[in-house]
Amino acid sequence: MNTLMINGHWLTGEGEWLVSRNPADNRVLWKKRAADDRQAALAVEAARAAQSGWAQRPLMERVACLRRFAELLRQHQKSLAHVIELETGKASTECVAEVDAMVNKVRISLEAFQTRTGEWRHGEQALQHRPLGVVLVLGPFNFPGHLPNGQIVPALLAGNTVVFKPSEETPWVAEQTALLWQAAGLPKGVFNLIQGDSEVGEALCQQPIDGVFFTGSSTAGMQLHLQLAGRPEVLLAMEMGGNNPLIVDRNVPVDQAVELIVQSAFATSGQRCTCARRLILLDDGHHTQALLKALVEASRRLTLRPLINMAARNRLLGAQAHLRSLGGHTLLPMHTGGGHSSTLSPGLLDMTVPYQRGDEIPDEEWFGPLLQVYRVADMKAALALANATRFGLAAGLISQDALAQQRFRQEIRAGVVSINTPTAGASSELPFGGVGASGNHRAGAWYTADYCAWPQATRFGTTPRFGTTLGRRIRQAG
Ligand code: NAD
Repeated sequence: MNTLMINGHWLTGEGEWLVSRNPADNRVLWKKRAADDRQAALAVEAARAAQSGWAQRPLMERVACLRRFAELLRQHQKSLAHVIELETGKASTECVAEVDAMVNKVRISLEAFQTRTGEWRHGEQALQHRPLGVVLVLGPFNFPGHLPNGQIVPALLAGNTVVFKPSEETPWVAEQTALLWQAAGLPKGVFNLIQGDSEVGEALCQQPIDGVFFTGSSTAGMQLHLQLAGRPEVLLAMEMGGNNPLIVDRNVPVDQAVELIVQSAFATSGQRCTCARRLILLDDGHHTQALLKALVEASRRLTLRPLINMAARNRLLGAQAHLRSLGGHTLLPMHTGGGHSSTLSPGLLDMTVPYQRGDEIPDEEWFGPLLQVYRVADMKAALALANATRFGLAAGLISQDALAQQRFRQEIRAGVVSINTPTAGASSELPFGGVGASGNHRAGAWYTADYCAWPQATRFGTTPRFGTTLGRRIRQAG
């Protein structure tokens, strides 16, 4: 029943029971005990003890460990992808691609590390980057391998040691990943795994850590920010959700637009932080009606997959009911798959009437396959509506007009912008992050290197000559 990896040893948790279920049939997949506060503290202690030794190893030794890990991921791709599929309910092709992304992260992180945080000396001035120390990585459920890995790999590369607390929904994926880290030959204490829910996460935050790299909901991120208030020495990097707009210009070919909208809104059953939540159509009369008709048909045909759990499914159904009660017109209702599965079909709600009436529509991220539709008169109105959110993660435009594209890039307030490509997706070779309630200006992906290390600037003076006051003081001290 070993659950936790602390200082290179697998230990039984001494906290609450933690249960992971298959969202497709609600069967128990994994049931073990979480960590208690003492074990959370032990993991941080182990990471602290290992940190300076790890940072002082030559870079190529750290890189060699990471490459061994990438090789092990390749070897175990099928089995790890299968565990991701069982725990999250995602399609198997997506899970195989997730492990691929984990493998590629090692190469990309090394390139980013060298590009963004290099070392140089020019004459009397020099720059180097130093690791933060001990960092806590808090992972979400939707990409339980790839997203924490995107923090762990660059953190280790820069010389930090890591305490990883995965999502309480996906402990098994984390356990399998930790076994591969161990097999890659990381020294004891460099990577530690602590299992548990948000309370265990909170207990870890109270420890003497140097950084928290959080990926999760905006609500949890706000709590985390409060928990760390008054501790400026702890670097907090937050990747959170969004209420992402997707604008569709006039005269775009219906088939192409529908394909992009469906991929933007319903990839991974809408459980991606970059999924479009609000579809904003520049109203074009018959053309808009044709587009909506084709969108309803295409959405209806999608293969249904489960959401992460019943609670998530019920939250989405509650959101649908609430938006309807505000006057939303149902274009396609979400319905459940029945039985013990948390499956939910895509839903489309036209919110134009309550929006035009000036009614307040909640600015929330509903993390599932529910897309709100708004019809507006022109691009000015579309951009105003797109930006009328406290979030600022992803935004998309479908338009063949170069001027509209340029205006969109200039005016949209979002960190991840997609033009004529689905919003749901991102490049590891670009920075990734949001503004407003979506993040705190610590963009990840290519820029993760930036917050894994701090810059140290050095100025060299001329060697003090003996006989000068400073030289005498140095000789006396020596
Ligand atoms: P979540 O916020 O429920 O949990 C994320 C992690 O934080 C979990 O490990 C959880 O246990 C921990 N946690 C929660 N509250 C905590 C607290 N107060 N102190 C310490 N730890 C705490 O998120 P989730 O449901 O697993 O993931 C879905 C959310 O993540 C969505 O909102 C989605 O938009 C967001 N997300 C964002 C990105 C991004 O890069 N911007 C990527 C993926 C997912």
